Amino acid sequence: MINEGKALILFSGGQDSATILAWALDKFDHVETLGFDYEQRHMVEMQCRGDVLAQIRATFPHWAHKLGKDRVLDLSVLGEISNTSFTRDIEITETGDGLPNTFVPGRNIIFLNFAAALGYKRGVHNLVAGMCEADFSGYPDCRKDTLDATIKALSLGMDTEFKLHTPLMFLSKAGAWQLAERLGGAALVALINQYSHTCYMGERGERHAWGYGCGECPACVLRANGWAAYKS
Ligand code: ZN
Repeated sequence: MINEGKALILFSGGQDSATILAWALDKFDHVETLGFDYEQRHMVEMQCRGDVLAQIRATFPHWAHKLGKDRVLDLSVLGEISNTSFTRDIEITETGDGLPNTFVPGRNIIFLNFAAALGYKRGVHNLVAGMCEADFSGYPDCRKDTLDATIKALSLGMDTEFKLHTPLMFLSKAGAWQLAERLGGAALVALINQYSHTCYMGERGERHAWGYGCGECPACVLRANGWAAYKS
């Protein structure tokens, strides 16, 4: 049985996924979360997932009762087929094809396949994901066209009408902070700032105005610039 009030969130523990989690808690009655372990170098994200969930439960009682089961699927096979700086200890650089070498080919398409399979089993056809066309790197699997085609294929292949919600698709990083403020005020902004993790290097040593991170990798630079734009 499909339940319109339920949603499954692709939840990594990063700024974007923490924001869409709040968006889904505002919109749906029951929200389940799904993460993937693909031997990413920023494994600290896995700890941050739990921290963000715990803090949302503690800070927003009107959302806490809507939070359902959290799952992490083992996709270590993705690390085996990808020689990228996400999953290997190599420097993050721009590759010849205009994409940074942090790109794991087709990652979001693979994630959506597993999300849809789990959603099918759970009777949940609303999938919520944090992909964003404004992402600095222009990952082709973050684009709306790619995601529309993917969700159509999944709907046909499982004979179920999945809906993919991507509330950040056309927002800047500053716009994502503004959305968080609209949803949960200064408390949610502070929570995401403190507990979500973005840094590719898995660095959480130094606290900056925009959160924790090395401050130098492309993800930190994007997050820092977005925070500065939000605050200006
Ligand atoms: Zn960093």
